[in-house]
Amino acid sequence: MSQPTDSPSQHDLSTNLNIERDLEINVSLGDRGYPIVISSGKWFDVVAKIRSAIPDLTHALIVGDESITETWVAPIVLELRQTARCDFFEVESGEPSKSIEMIGKLWEWMHTCGTDRQSVLIAIGGGVIGDLAGFAAAAYARGIRLVQLPTTLLAQVDSSVGGKTGINLTSGKNMVGAFWQPSLVVIDTDTLSTLPPRTYLSGLAEVIKYGVIEDAAFFEWLEANAAALVVRDPKAIRHAVATSCRIKADVVANDERETSGRRAILNYGHTFAHAIEATAGYGAFLHGEAVAIGMEMAARLASAMGLIDRQFVQRQRKLIESCSLPIAWFDADPEAMIAAMRTDKKVSHAQLRFVLPNRIGHIEMIVCNDTAAIADAIRGRQ
Ligand code: NAD
Repeated sequence: MSQPTDSPSQHDLSTNLNIERDLEINVSLGDRGYPIVISSGKWFDVVAKIRSAIPDLTHALIVGDESITETWVAPIVLELRQTARCDFFEVESGEPSKSIEMIGKLWEWMHTCGTDRQSVLIAIGGGVIGDLAGFAAAAYARGIRLVQLPTTLLAQVDSSVGGKTGINLTSGKNMVGAFWQPSLVVIDTDTLSTLPPRTYLSGLAEVIKYGVIEDAAFFEWLEANAAALVVRDPKAIRHAVATSCRIKADVVANDERETSGRRAILNYGHTFAHAIEATAGYGAFLHGEAVAIGMEMAARLASAMGLIDRQFVQRQRKLIESCSLPIAWFDADPEAMIAAMRTDKKVSHAQLRFVLPNRIGHIEMIVCNDTAAIADAIRGRQ
């Protein structure tokens, strides 16, 4: 790699904020481990980073989001073509592309490109592209190498790390997929500069989640720096992305396939959020907006159960609001949402389980079948 790389400690602000240097975070999974390289303003250097991590790259398959073809994808294709065979598949933007039809087209295209197990698939885009292309890589020829180049905040702090890939069925989101770890993740926070405001802000919900579930000092830093994040201050973004990736990498390293319960902490706010998305109709809320409202509902439930005090609920609410994210859905139908929760693929033996905080930076997995309390948390009564 062309620039020095640092592996700073959890809250080494001076290194995180030094925008000239690359940061490297390792996802420690033995022979499936990989680095996440975080840079700012060095998109021109991404191909060098890929070549350095994958020196035997001779055939690249680029799968990119159509809305960023000219800005972010084309420069990578052109640069790769200097030294390797490079094919390009453009995917229509949006959640409907995570479909059986689209992945079928992708696999057929991979076949016509002469893809073999030496080929490397490079996903460039948000979570939709990462999930779709990741699953294509996981299953083609029983698995080819994958590089993630995430270009949305949600993808940079969440979906590109950890190896969950998949597509939707018409009857359910993310119902078919595989765990398939990438060989490399390269994040350039500059790519966030072209994101529409709502899409950018919705990614902040997942960032707040990391503070609540795992890191009280990070939560405090977010309280002090929310305004800088909202206006996309490059240093603030870099610290938020680096800290989020470090927490996600640690959780994934300890529970790669969500078997011990540790990885489930990442679902804070998500039981409510999935029910909001399902009952509001997919597309009414962006995922992060549903997560923001879901975290508010989860905090209210935790408060009603005596796990946390009102001050926690208020602090989290203030932080969510200062990130210009919603905290309520006034048209919520508690009965419909609870019914949707019961069909969530994470429900086990018909028990409703929630990831709930008991202080900032610490959460527990709680079984709660008190539907009156859940409905109150949804309605906003305490
Ligand atoms: P997305 O991929 O649809 O991207 C959001 C929008 O931003 C799209 O319109 C896209 O065209 C546009 N875009 C992408 N990069 C851009 C850029 N740099 N500049 C301008 N526009 C850009 O959505 P998302 O929020 O990134 O991801 C949502 C998906 O991620 C969902 O399908 C969800 O299920 C999945 N997800 C997966 C995981 C996981 O662990 N695999 C975790 C969380 C979410």
